Amino acid sequence: MELTRLMSKLKMEHLPANLDALCEQAAKRELDYRSFLTEALATEWAGRHQKGLESRLKQARLPWVKTIEQFDFSFQPSIDRKVVRELAGLAFVARAENVILLGPPGVGKTHIAIGLAVKAAEAGLRVLFLTLEELMTRLKRASQENRLEKQLQQLTYPKVLIIDEIGYLPLNRQEASLFFRLVARRYEKASMILTSNKGFVDWGEIFSDQVVATAILDRLLHHATTLNIKGESFRLKEKRKAGLVTEPVNPPEPEGDK
Ligand code: ADP
Ligand code: MG
Repeated sequence: MELTRLMSKLKMEHLPANLDALCEQAAKRELDYRSFLTEALATEWAGRHQKGLESRLKQARLPWVKTIEQFDFSFQPSIDRKVVRELAGLAFVARAENVILLGPPGVGKTHIAIGLAVKAAEAGLRVLFLTLEELMTRLKRASQENRLEKQLQQLTYPKVLIIDEIGYLPLNRQEASLFFRLVARRYEKASMILTSNKGFVDWGEIFSDQVVATAILDRLLHHATTLNIKGESFRLKEKRKAGLVTEPVNPPEPEGDK
């Protein structure tokens, strides 16, 4: 069988386009057979990995992409970088543990959540990012359309589920109980990363019910790492640098300001 046909039969998608260059390079560098074969297969593998990563990132619906490496830890000394480095190793995902990022607006909660999501996607894991509002829209619609069970089941598939911005939008009792059902579904099965501008003591208010809030926190915190970020808004720092703000204050987060 000729080479082109063999590559197609073997479903090699990336090697064909790179083959001429690889052969030329191999000849120039006088590679032995084994090294050449390694390079050829590595090229195919790298292409597949990249394609898989891109598709997982697309599925993840991240609002923007930034990495843990892009996070400036010196600006936020209340974050223990050892803890974040440990989380970036993804052992928490293997153990189905949760990560909870607390702190005022602009301190990098979403950035760290997204950075961990990127790590998980790179490791071949399925990830999904939703704001609490988006999650509620999904769950309420599913409930109205009598397919809540199916929706909850679908939300257990991602190995990492990020629920961003807990606390901005108070939930009524029905919404809180939907959230509880999701948390109970994923408990000890798959990780969640949650971000909130409110401390745990205020969660009773967010969920309109102390009993439900306690039940939610009980499951979430049983196996969890909490990062309590106390610091200045990175967005404001940038604005101050540009001379737009003078006081180091933390006003309410402006809509869509990234
Ligand atoms: P939060 O979710 O806590 O409100 P974000 O994660 O959205 O804050 O951060 C606001 C913006 O500032 C984002 O663009 C983020 O990438 C950036 N940012 C925040 N903290 C840092 C930091 N320590 N290093 C680099 N960029 C940061
Ligand atoms: Mg945020």
